[in-house]
Amino acid sequence: MAMLLVVVGTAGSIVGARQVAQEDSNNSHQVFVTSANGIASTLKLAVQHEQDLTISAGAFLAANPEATDAQFMQWTRSVRAFARYPELQTISELVMVPASQLGAYAARQVADPSGTLAANGTFEVSPPGNRPYYCLSPASQARSVKQDLPDGIDFCATVLRSELLGSRDSGKNEYLPYKSGKTEELAVGAAIYRGGVVPSTVAARRAAFIGWTGTAILPGVILDTALKGHPDTAVAFHYGAGRSKVTFTAGTMPRGAQSTTINLRNGWYVQVFGAVVGEGLLTNRSALVLLIGSIALVLLLALLIYVLGTSRSRALELVDERTNELEHQAFHDALTGLPNRALILDRIDHMMARARREQTTVAALFLDLDNFKDINDTLGHRAGDQLLTEVGKRLVGVLRGGDTVGRLGGDEFVVLTEGSSRSDVGQGVAQRVLAALDPPIEISASDVPLTVTASIGIASGDRATPEELLRDADIALYRAKAAGKHRAEVFTPSMLVSVDDHRSLDVDLHAALGADQFFLLYQPTIDLATGALTGVEALLRWRHPTRGVVQPLDFIPALESSGLIVPVGQWVLEEACRQGAHWHAQGHRLVVSVNVAAKQLQRDRIVDDVHGALTASGFDPALLVLELTESALMQDVAMTVDRLRMLKALGVRIAIDDFGTGFSSLAYLQQFPIDILKIDRSFVASVAETSTSAAIIRTFVQLGKALALEVIAEGIENDDQRMRLAAEKVDTGQGFLFGRPLDVEAVHRFLQHSRTVSTA
Ligand code: C2E
Ligand code: MG
Ligand code: MG
Repeated sequence: MAMLLVVVGTAGSIVGARQVAQEDSNNSHQVFVTSANGIASTLKLAVQHEQDLTISAGAFLAANPEATDAQFMQWTRSVRAFARYPELQTISELVMVPASQLGAYAARQVADPSGTLAANGTFEVSPPGNRPYYCLSPASQARSVKQDLPDGIDFCATVLRSELLGSRDSGKNEYLPYKSGKTEELAVGAAIYRGGVVPSTVAARRAAFIGWTGTAILPGVILDTALKGHPDTAVAFHYGAGRSKVTFTAGTMPRGAQSTTINLRNGWYVQVFGAVVGEGLLTNRSALVLLIGSIALVLLLALLIYVLGTSRSRALELVDERTNELEHQAFHDALTGLPNRALILDRIDHMMARARREQTTVAALFLDLDNFKDINDTLGHRAGDQLLTEVGKRLVGVLRGGDTVGRLGGDEFVVLTEGSSRSDVGQGVAQRVLAALDPPIEISASDVPLTVTASIGIASGDRATPEELLRDADIALYRAKAAGKHRAEVFTPSMLVSVDDHRSLDVDLHAALGADQFFLLYQPTIDLATGALTGVEALLRWRHPTRGVVQPLDFIPALESSGLIVPVGQWVLEEACRQGAHWHAQGHRLVVSVNVAAKQLQRDRIVDDVHGALTASGFDPALLVLELTESALMQDVAMTVDRLRMLKALGVRIAIDDFGTGFSSLAYLQQFPIDILKIDRSFVASVAETSTSAAIIRTFVQLGKALALEVIAEGIENDDQRMRLAAEKVDTGQGFLFGRPLDVEAVHRFLQHSRTVSTA
């Protein structure tokens, strides 16, 4: 647009300026012609005036051939010659005096008091000498005295001679320019004949000839008058008739002037020089000004259009950028830059559609950091943010190209992956993800590297909506949390049943402790070598007013995240010790194991709680075992070791619960003052089927023995498992095979039928 405007505008400006130049030129030519005509007519008038004066002077002379200077002066005054003719310098009567009449003429002149004689008062011809005739001036008037000519000058003895005689014979005026000092003057001679008319032949003219009227004028004055009001104009005034050829110039000749010549008749021509505006663009000022002005305007407009145009496109660009940014913001998490829930759902949708086409399986991993809330609470949000960012990076680092990592918010991440087989898709990724989080994370907001663990719920396969897949992964995550955290659980439809409404229970939990809704069940532990009862594990239950008995997996995670686990855990300790002391009082030295949550272990208060429970109940500390999961131990190792020492100082023993599912880092074990190793039931479940599980269990037992630990196997459900574990020299067993978690009465009955092994 701007370019077009420049091209069209410039062309238009040139055409316009041309037209103006043309018009200007025409106008100025017109003006010039008019002014030249004006000058010419002024000059013509001046010439006519001059002739009028000559004719009237001639008439005076014809009537007074012997007029004296005084008489002539009177005449010039009467006709106001000098006033009316500003160019007039001198006016004279000239007569032709034959040598014979010179004496009489001289006597008349001497007698004329107003004459101008020689210095000595005599009349002498000048130049002196005897000539057949003399052309003398009997009367003469000058504008100034200085110009008054001496009476005796013989004009026919000067350069004027031929002009004078010529005009006598031709009857025409004779003109002769001459210099008087510095000024150009024009001498005009007009012959006077008797009768006032010019005879037709030369002879007749000579016969009727009386004399001349001679005038000296300043042509400059006439010309200046004519040039008045015509600046920048020069004029050349020519006379060219007969032998007279004169030219006068006046005015200032402008550069590159044009000229026009006008015939004034009677031999006079006037040539006027004036500046005429040319047709050329560059020579015409106003056209040039117009051209430059309009081009400048065009350029300004073009610039305006360009600026508006570019700022519009810049604005559009900005809008584009902004739109992209907003789009990115709409689909990405601000902190980590990872896809957010909306984008994750969209990706799941695409992946599921592709999976249907290509017979593959999509898996969603729902990942939640186990101890994030504590980090946020103790180190602050900045540390929390840095940690989340780093976790995001690690997750991205372990994934394949086609996988997606996103953040749902808080410490919740989602990983999407695809695989060919339905069963294990996602599990390999989950293990890689857990391993990736193993190395402590260094962040600037914390002096010590932070250890984070995560729980992962895996859901795979097709669903009606992407949300369903995420929900199922979330349920599996809940299970992973409940099962001790720092692990991955695969979703199974059976999870839906119990979990569907677990979240609504959270609200009711707050009132549960005050309302006495918690109670404990006790699951026996058996000496695998002898089959004797060694003790019980206290397991928490919640009698919900409307839902009935709720299992710990469905409310302990909520207790932990709300922090309620601390008072509830204290209650469990007190209740278990009270019951243990009671059994003891009845003569049963039963070991009582109490599960202690990570949250509890993170506070110094745990030492007081345990101490309080023991003193309040009088329970023998040697019979109390505190079960801690690996992940609970691994949080803030140094502090944990300190607290474990203090607890042990009370005389209680420490067990690692669910061993093998967490870090499985045997090296760590040595740091902790542990007494018992409880092998997770997942190994027990498969001990009869896979040789790997058997090998692992053997390793655990050997390790336990090396560290002088008691080894307990959880979840023994059948004899096959019992025998294999016994063969692997596992000390103690726990599981449905021996007994489910029992209420106090059931324990009592159990005690009646079994032998108690003294553990003292
Ligand atoms: P846990 O400490 O590993 O307790 C053993 C769990 O295994 C119990 O589940 C028990 O019922 C179950 N179990 C025992 N034998 C078998 C078996 O042969 N087969 C199968 N499939 N399961 C068996 P429960 O009572 O549902 O407790 C689940 C978890 O809840 C416990 O795992 C423990 O981590 C936690 N928990 C229970 N009570 C407390 C508590 O008072 N405080 C804390 N912090 N956690 C508790
Ligand atoms: Mg336990
Ligand atoms: Mg366990």
